[in-house]
Amino acid sequence: MPVDLRIGPALVVPVTAAPFEGWVEVTGGELVHVGPEPSAAPATETYDASGRMVIPAFVNTHCHTSQQLGRGLADDVGLLTWLHERIWPYETALDEADSEISALACAIEQIRNGCTLIADPGGRHVDGMARGIATAGIRALLGRSTMDDGEGRPPVDQETTAQALDRQDELAARWHGGAGGRLSFSYTLRTLFNCSDDLITATVERARALGTVAQMHVAEIPEENAYARATRGTSTVRHLDRLGALGPGLLAVHATWVDDEEIELLAARRCPVSHNAASNLKILGTPRIADMVDAGVVVGLGTDGAPSNNRMSVIDEMWLASIVQKGLRRDPTALPAEQVLRMATIDGARALGMDSVVGSIELGKRADLVVIDPRTPNFATAADPVSALVTALKSENVESVLCDGEWLLRDHRLTRVDELAVLAEATARAATVRERAGLRP
Ligand SMILES: [Zn+2]
Repeated sequence: MPVDLRIGPALVVPVTAAPFEGWVEVTGGELVHVGPEPSAAPATETYDASGRMVIPAFVNTHCHTSQQLGRGLADDVGLLTWLHERIWPYETALDEADSEISALACAIEQIRNGCTLIADPGGRHVDGMARGIATAGIRALLGRSTMDDGEGRPPVDQETTAQALDRQDELAARWHGGAGGRLSFSYTLRTLFNCSDDLITATVERARALGTVAQMHVAEIPEENAYARATRGTSTVRHLDRLGALGPGLLAVHATWVDDEEIELLAARRCPVSHNAASNLKILGTPRIADMVDAGVVVGLGTDGAPSNNRMSVIDEMWLASIVQKGLRRDPTALPAEQVLRMATIDGARALGMDSVVGSIELGKRADLVVIDPRTPNFATAADPVSALVTALKSENVESVLCDGEWLLRDHRLTRVDELAVLAEATARAATVRERAGLRP
């Protein structure tokens, strides 16, 4: 029996095992051979990867696909201005067709940065988002932005707890397992400011029942903990624990403002954290990620959205996460490259409950791979290629990207979509949305 695809000879970086010179083979979208020599089977397609590296595709654990048309809309403003005066008006002005192009443009940026799995914490038009992602071909956990409580919500977001849950159930029935299994539905909670305890409890229960994670922005700013203390009598993380929500079924996004005891709680409950170094630095503050990792918390990396980063690249996030934690601790040994690479791959997959499917190069896993070409000025002379994946890698090194055994990028070219046409439409729609929202950049 021939294999569908043979890639090699390359420096293979499985992440969960030591790097080696060898070959990777794929049949039916599954990794069927990984080793120093090719198998004896003939191959339908061979990808000559001499001088290249093959790594697992990156995982972006926090990626607002609906905000891709809002890049640059909210620079140099505080969080509440960012949210109430820029993002909410932008999101309100976005229609379903805009959301589809926004998600597609965002997915293209993910592919060009070697990422094939994202967790989207929720937009308003999930049908549009899902169609955009399905067109691009990447994997995604998609959710609907959900709020049932609190001040200042846009009128369109004023819904009851039951309505918020019903609408999500309906979307879960439509999209969970969609696009040939590449789409999963994920129940979401915006923040403690806008979610009732009933909604939090019911959301996490539903996510666990569906076998997916619920996503929630957690402890983003000190004011959130103050609000939690005023309305619930304790900080956000402690309150979530009291509700029984803290655990593998909840992805705690940001966790910027947590104390020692809360870090211990996150570790003890096996509650994963999504770390977004750039957007944290820009808007929220810097979380103690190295301390969380040392305590045993599973941490994945995320880009957040285009208005809050503004680079939508896990490659950039690896480098930032690494040097920022070293600076924060004043310890150059904090968060070594190998750890950061795990965060961008297998630990990100684990945070999303998908580490048995993707996140490393292992027999039986789905073939989500990136071929890296190190022959560029920023990478070529690197002494340690694995460390260079964190410290030197740039998007131009991403030569080809495979998702579920299918090339989405081949020799620097998108295979499924006319990239320039999509970007032109996204640019035109971004201008229209700004106009509709009354926003000037
Ligand atoms: Zn977010």
